[in-house]
Amino acid sequence: MEKPIFVKRTPEKGLGIFAARDIRKDEVISQFTGPRVTIENLDEFPPEVVDHLFNVGTDEYLVAREPEVRTNHSCDPNAGIRGETLLVAMCDIPKDEEITFDYSMIMDDDWEMDCLCGSPLCRKRIGPYRNLPRELKERYRDYVPDWIRSR
Ligand SMILES: [Zn+2]
Repeated sequence: MEKPIFVKRTPEKGLGIFAARDIRKDEVISQFTGPRVTIENLDEFPPEVVDHLFNVGTDEYLVAREPEVRTNHSCDPNAGIRGETLLVAMCDIPKDEEITFDYSMIMDDDWEMDCLCGSPLCRKRIGPYRNLPRELKERYRDYVPDWIRSR
């Protein structure tokens, strides 16, 4: 199946993935794939390695492949994660729009990142799912992986 995404440079965030056609709410856009690794201390790895990690459990990661690894974070995302590794549209996404998810949707480790997403909803500092406000967890409810929902 042809993935409905393409990689393009963004003005401020390096590469990102974009909709190659109109995508409907709840459509599966793509799937994160890659070798699984267990890492207990992210601080031991340089940012260019950490940037490729996609959480599939506490301390459990995929070393994500192209092009999904290029998916940027947003505090006002148009996509989320279903099951464990499926990237799913949270709303209708028009062709050529950038596709983003909220990295906190998959994050259970003691990890934080400054955010410059520019959204009016920007939290400025993003961290693990368990620290999200309850109303945001409610909004993301159908778009977070099964393993993190109880956190
Ligand atoms: Zn933000």
